[in-house]
Amino acid sequence: MYTTLRKVTEKAEKLNFTVGSFNMHNLEMLPSMIMAAKEMGSPIIIQTSAGTAKYIGYGVIASVCKYMAEHESVDVVLHLDHAKDFQDIRDAIEAGYTSVMYDGSSLPFKENILRTQEVVNYAHARGVSVEGELGTIGGTEEGVFVKENEKVFTDPEAAKQFVEATGVDALAVAIGTNHGQYKSKTELNLPLLKKINETIDVPLVIHGGTGVKEEDIRQCTNYGVRKFNVGTELLVGWTKEAKRMFGQTKEDASLRNNILPCNDVVSTVIKHKIGIFLNLNAN
Ligand SMILES: [Zn+2]
Repeated sequence: MYTTLRKVTEKAEKLNFTVGSFNMHNLEMLPSMIMAAKEMGSPIIIQTSAGTAKYIGYGVIASVCKYMAEHESVDVVLHLDHAKDFQDIRDAIEAGYTSVMYDGSSLPFKENILRTQEVVNYAHARGVSVEGELGTIGGTEEGVFVKENEKVFTDPEAAKQFVEATGVDALAVAIGTNHGQYKSKTELNLPLLKKINETIDVPLVIHGGTGVKEEDIRQCTNYGVRKFNVGTELLVGWTKEAKRMFGQTKEDASLRNNILPCNDVVSTVIKHKIGIFLNLNAN
């Protein structure tokens, strides 16, 4: 069914697994993303930046997700990633998104609380889930680069205060991951993640998941991570295959035959990740 972040993370909490949250970068790849989750028997969170949503249309994306969730019988959440502008949140919710992230992580602590509270009030009144963020995740997000020495890890006590004051449904934590990292792997601060999980009650979210070592993903799940974002790996995989395909076919060749293999790459990555996120050998 077409559902919310709150519902799928509740299910994940009960069964100790993580829900994969995958960035769609164009409309072409969306159906194969949802079919990959269906094949694995897992819920999926489809997330878009406000930029992608404006490029394709919030309502177009929501319609495809809703249609496929119902007709393919798979749990699909549609989530707006890293919104900093209230108007984007309103546009997404009005178009049918079931979850939004308000990213006030670059604001002073108190202002982050106040603005996140406003978003929570607005979203919850409409049955929509909210993810907040505390601390800074490295790398580039929507063109803004966070330098290594400007990264601030999430403080567990501040996280407790933030979650209690705002009522967010999930919290993105900064424990060393970087957006856009795909050529190397991250050293995660797993003891900090464990401490945060012991201190607060809400599902935790990892951003920059492409750079996380596979053996660390299982540990993240066991430490309360219920939403795990993967974006760059899909972007890079799709683009590489597109370059290869378009580089070798004639310009009047069927577009479909060039694009199908690109979507297949995305599908393969998603199925592989979900296989780890489901945490089947743990209890
Ligand atoms: Zn992010």
